[in-house]
Amino acid sequence: MAPAEPGNTGPGNTGPGNTGAGATGRVGSSGIAFRTCIGCRKRDPRGSLLRVVLRDGLLCVDPQGVEPGRGAWFHLECAERSLRGLPAALRWRGALDLAPIRAFLAIEHDQK
Ligand SMILES: [Zn+2]
Repeated sequence: MAPAEPGNTGPGNTGPGNTGAGATGRVGSSGIAFRTCIGCRKRDPRGSLLRVVLRDGLLCVDPQGVEPGRGAWFHLECAERSLRGLPAALRWRGALDLAPIRAFLAIEHDQK
């Protein structure tokens, strides 16, 4: 039976070890609005997310984020997941026509 030694396994693991200053998580006081992606639930500056708006049961893409109405935000790379959760995010009970969003995303992909 080997005695169970608590603690130190491996090399010295002292220090905060948190030196990697990532590009994320910078919240300045410059009034940058953060939005939560409905696909991955991460928060990012609104500029890196796409907004869609629901108006009278119709979905519109709102790249500027200025349209009135109930909106939802998501990353372009989270689009597929987000579109699935979109009715819930918009608290919309019923069928949603995702065609305008899909068309917009297709255009976006073409341009890249
Ligand atoms: Zn996302």
